[in-house]
Amino acid sequence: MTETLLQIKDLYVEYETNKGFAEEKQVIHAVNGANLEIKKGEILALAGESGCGKSTLAKSIIRLEKAKSGEIDFYGKNVLKFGKKELKDYRKKAQMIFQNPYSSLNPKMKIIDILKEPLLINTNLSDIEMYEIIKEKIEKVGLTTDILNLYPHEFSGGQRQRIAIARALILNPEFILADEPVSALDVSIQAQIINLLRELRNDYNLTFILITHDMGVIKYLADRVAIMYLGEIVELGTTSQIFYNPKHPYTKALLSAIPQLNENEKQERIILSGDLPSPANLPQGCKFHTRCPNCMDICSKCSPKELEVSDGHKVKCFLYMKLNK
Ligand code: SF4
Repeated sequence: MTETLLQIKDLYVEYETNKGFAEEKQVIHAVNGANLEIKKGEILALAGESGCGKSTLAKSIIRLEKAKSGEIDFYGKNVLKFGKKELKDYRKKAQMIFQNPYSSLNPKMKIIDILKEPLLINTNLSDIEMYEIIKEKIEKVGLTTDILNLYPHEFSGGQRQRIAIARALILNPEFILADEPVSALDVSIQAQIINLLRELRNDYNLTFILITHDMGVIKYLADRVAIMYLGEIVELGTTSQIFYNPKHPYTKALLSAIPQLNENEKQERIILSGDLPSPANLPQGCKFHTRCPNCMDICSKCSPKELEVSDGHKVKCFLYMKLNK
């Protein structure tokens, strides 16, 4: 059985912001009771519209965002209780790849220095040992050591993203948070980077938490998908369960927005009414009820509980509770 790498239990993340230009503060409820198990070696996608809480959830896993309550267990140990030293060790095992390879690399540093920096901070290796690691990682991402004395501006977007991936690999992490890793790249380059991420997962048994709104990327890359809406995971399943047998009305709407080239696969677009409500003013009951085409009386009054509709396929929606009575 595959080992559990991370177990997120009833996680809440909130933060305060100013309300417009006024002094008055408002509380943003970014993550609202998330429960999720992430297995070693899997690619798990967090999907949903901008503002659904997927980036906040991912950042709270590596404690870049402070959780209000709940638990994040890494190999059974609660990350939220880690002291300084444990947190430093944990952060070596958890790396990040950012959306924009133009801003994620320091333009004043040569590539060799960018790649050496994490080793200087976290290890006592000699120059020769560091060079061997840098050489291995840079070749692993499809580049050569000739580039090490160049600066980031001398590369294309795709090459920069490869360098950013090499930097994320330098400390041999257990898992990588990939935040929209291809959305800033040309379409022709996106497939190359997606293939590279798959290769790395296979070669290093790496775990990826993929944060994206691009359902096409998810379909190709992820093993499982968690669909988020207003800080809640509303549906969770394998990629094939989510794409070929979606249950939640929100998942169905997201999938209907994917452009299909194949006439046989074309489906009617589900247009949701209204915008995503503010996470400062969460709706009562099911948080999706203000936009749901299947909304029933009960939906604005009570919150649906998570229900397992088939092996590992979970959904929060009263439609299935009714059907299963
Ligand atoms: Fe729609 Fe009701 Fe299901 Fe929420 S619980 S998704 S409002 S049908």
